Amino acid sequence: MNGRAPKSLVLVTVDCWRADHAGFMGYPAPTTPFLDGLAAESLVFPKAIVTGAPTYYSFPGLLASRFPLSLGREVVGLAPGEVTLATVLERSGYETAAFVAANPYLSARFGYQQGFGVFRDFLSEEAARSYVMNSGERRQQAAQRPRARTRFNQRVAKLAHAFGPVGAMYDELYFQYCQRIAAPKNESWDSLRRFPAADVLVNEACTWLASLGQRPFFLWLHLMDPHAPYYPPPQAIEAMGAGRVRPARGRYLNESWNRCDLGPGRLRKYRDEIVRLHDAGVRWVDIQMARLVEALRASGRWESCVVALTADHGEEFLDHGGRFHLPSRAYQESLHVPLLLRVPGVGKKVSSEAPFSHLHLAPTILDAVGIEPPPEFEGRSYWREVQAGAGWGLAVSESVGRCTNPMDPEKRLGSRVLVVQDRRHKLVLDFERRTEELFDLDADPGEQRILPQDAEKTIRVRLLRAALQHLEGRDREPKAALALAARVRQFGLELSRPEMPSETAAT
Ligand SMILES: [Zn+2]
Repeated sequence: MNGRAPKSLVLVTVDCWRADHAGFMGYPAPTTPFLDGLAAESLVFPKAIVTGAPTYYSFPGLLASRFPLSLGREVVGLAPGEVTLATVLERSGYETAAFVAANPYLSARFGYQQGFGVFRDFLSEEAARSYVMNSGERRQQAAQRPRARTRFNQRVAKLAHAFGPVGAMYDELYFQYCQRIAAPKNESWDSLRRFPAADVLVNEACTWLASLGQRPFFLWLHLMDPHAPYYPPPQAIEAMGAGRVRPARGRYLNESWNRCDLGPGRLRKYRDEIVRLHDAGVRWVDIQMARLVEALRASGRWESCVVALTADHGEEFLDHGGRFHLPSRAYQESLHVPLLLRVPGVGKKVSSEAPFSHLHLAPTILDAVGIEPPPEFEGRSYWREVQAGAGWGLAVSESVGRCTNPMDPEKRLGSRVLVVQDRRHKLVLDFERRTEELFDLDADPGEQRILPQDAEKTIRVRLLRAALQHLEGRDREPKAALALAARVRQFGLELSRPEMPSETAAT
């Protein structure tokens, strides 16, 4: 301990929330009126960068201050026995609880319960199982599912596809038929939603907070409201000023947005409405954060409570032609997230525009609450620099580009996408495609123009050196035992065949 009375900590991570969709980051739509007020008395980081995307590449950085591929590409999640923000705080005498809105990659299967006295992941057995399937098992399951198309329909489809454009026309007609005529009746936003909404988690958190004694606490909430498919509570849509949207319209938009047979050109007509639904998810987080803070105030704990609020990665809305959040897509809409740190007694400082890596968040938070960061963390505390407003400079992010399903060894062991960025420039090395792309984020914030190979040689060399240092420079020896334990667990998961799989795709 640092000689100060330890403060309590609330960590809120929001899935799929990019930096430019937060009011306090300059977004014009009213996604975060409550959080904008909180930001006015908090430290706001203009450029917080995740250690990797999606969820499974982001959270080792967030909770264990460790690059996602440090233990080897075979390792998914946190290793058994790994030191994390939660284990450090629990060891320091904190009451700890986590409420996670049914993101299977953040379940006990992948080590995320470690250090939490109370851990609720809201996953049904069935949903949890479906996530430990590899692609072959998913295909097998899909084949067993009752067919949406009758045998007759399938014959017509096959025939239509034999005649080029007629196939596309058939697909379109069939999609419209399913959506408009054969659609389920009496559906509601609640029945369509795939993850528990933020109010459900905040209710649980408030009940837990009310049960606590005087010891400091650590509460982690992971909220999925802005995650696809986008089915926000209707109150949030209305709060955004979008009027009433019928659930059937919401389903039609989501199903259209999810279509694999449409290119960016044809998807574009759904984009604005889809963004409005996603934003309403953020607004629901904002409304529920207001409730949580009110409960903390009412219990007299607010004044000794540090709050860290961020996202595990962003979301694409055709900015570069893509949707959702794939590991191969290293654009800022995926890597740049909001980060707000509220520490009682610390006034608002203008933070440096340099990228602040999530790698340093856990040690910096620990320092801010008054606990010594552990030596196992790869990041370091920037608490002193954060209070001064500057002093950090470079962020590294990494993922395996083709790993859209980490339970699939073939995908998991693919080549790395490595991103190094400083305040102005960003270098993206894709070892699968064998490409090296340098962007000037000041002149080209939308990353539309790759700089020519002979441009900015000094900068390129500096960022390449940092990339090399990242790949070679770390002492892996002490981590061998952790990596081995995690691989044994992975082996066990892959041996246990799911009995009741279902279709899901959340990251
Ligand atoms: Zn995520």
